[in-house]
Amino acid sequence: MSTRQLRVVVIGGGIGGLCLAQGLNAAGIDVAVYERDAAPDARTQGYRLNIEPVGSRALHDCLPAHLWNVLVATAGDPGPGMGVFTEELRLLMREDAPPAGLDPSEQAHAVSRITLRRLLLAGLDDIVHFGTEITGYRQNTDGTVTALFADGTSATGDVLVGADGANSRVRRQLLPHARRTPAPGVGIGGKLPLGDGSAWLPEELISTKNMFLPKRDFLFTAVFRRRETERTATEHITDRIRAAGLDPDLLVQDAKDDDYVMWAYVAHRRALPADLPDPSASGPGQRLRELVTSRLLNWHPDLRKLIAQTPADTIERFDFAAAERMKPWPTTNVTVLGDAAHSMPPVGGLGGNAALYDANVLRRALIAVDRGEAELIPALAAYERAMLKNGFAAVRAATMYLRLATLPSSVVRTVARTFFRLCGAVPPLRRAVFSD
Ligand SMILES: Cc1cc2nc3c(=O)[nH]c(=O)nc-3n(C[C@H](O)[C@H](O)[C@H](O)COP(=O)(O)OP(=O)(O)OC[C@H]3O[C@@H](n4cnc5c(N)ncnc54)[C@H](O)[C@@H]3O)c2cc1C
Repeated sequence: MSTRQLRVVVIGGGIGGLCLAQGLNAAGIDVAVYERDAAPDARTQGYRLNIEPVGSRALHDCLPAHLWNVLVATAGDPGPGMGVFTEELRLLMREDAPPAGLDPSEQAHAVSRITLRRLLLAGLDDIVHFGTEITGYRQNTDGTVTALFADGTSATGDVLVGADGANSRVRRQLLPHARRTPAPGVGIGGKLPLGDGSAWLPEELISTKNMFLPKRDFLFTAVFRRRETERTATEHITDRIRAAGLDPDLLVQDAKDDDYVMWAYVAHRRALPADLPDPSASGPGQRLRELVTSRLLNWHPDLRKLIAQTPADTIERFDFAAAERMKPWPTTNVTVLGDAAHSMPPVGGLGGNAALYDANVLRRALIAVDRGEAELIPALAAYERAMLKNGFAAVRAATMYLRLATLPSSVVRTVARTFFRLCGAVPPLRRAVFSD
């Protein structure tokens, strides 16, 4: 087996690409990331991210310990298991809460996207190259691969990883037959800050995640509350942040935002007006809020108030698409991870977790190759099998949630509600259906 040091070229400095780069860098592997954005904060980072235990494990394994500790200290607690309700706020079922006393690497976390990005970039100044957009790649006769960039430059390595998101340029060349199908749902989401004026919010909305399954449409809510107040979190972690070579003021800047309840309303495209504000249009919040309120006429007054009181500038529209499962392909030294392989509707918050899972599996595979414990192509083939299995299970789950959300038939919805009520009443059935 080859003992030459592996050179890994990662395209895309998003969640998955940076997590992989952290893990490889920590293992002493030569890794370089090429990111299209001009700078780390070129884009606003929107809502907090729900990190499930699978994502926590990946971040724990890939990040150096001091960065992982900062992540936990600055994260929020997403609360116990998800509740399923009717539109009258009647509980149908609540998932069982995770056991107490779990290590943070086995828990879920609500993570600020800005903080996560800063942590994932920490210590990678010489590794991440901003303002570099891949246009294609070339596989060389000596077994290496060269990424070609829009500015005429290039980068050569032993492995090329396309972590360049849902519209991946790498996937387009590697798997020209791969398709993404637009999904029939439209999402509208907003954030209500938890402050002095929000004392009226019922406990159900401020303690955990919930989904509301009415006779038509669908609503999801999640609470983002830091485990520590801004002041104690800053005091608690300042030394650790400085030890990590980061600026505490910059890192917890986002934690100075109010905690909030986020909501996402989903409906079938056909149920909504044809002239909905475009997802890229700025300032449509008020119109979207009026539209959602008009669809919730018979809902519990607190749910209507949640929407009505949400600041218009936080309200956005999302369109959905899902990757189609690809047939297996002959493995080469070019591979893909995360949304580049298996993008999915954000319903359920699974995509980032799947990207983190991929990064961790690929990290382990590449470390084994670098140490001479495995050959590159079989190791990448095993990674691709695991990545496709896990990623497309998440695509199926997200698509199923979206289908449930956009079901036109009230008969099927009544059956679904009865099923959740039954799961709520019969713990063994609930555990059989909803445990990992
Ligand atoms: C509203 C919303 C809420 C969500 N909430 C959650 C949640 O709570 N939990 C969860 O797990 N997931 C969530 N997701 C999904 C999650 O954001 C994605 O699945 C995740 O970001 C995928 O990570 P990635 O690294 O594969 O791709 P990305 O994070 O999209 O990163 C891709 C990177 O590649 C770069 N790039 C693109 N093209 C090129 C190119 N040609 N050359 C170089 N660089 C390029 C991009 O600039 C980007 O930085 C949500 C998504 C949305 C839209």
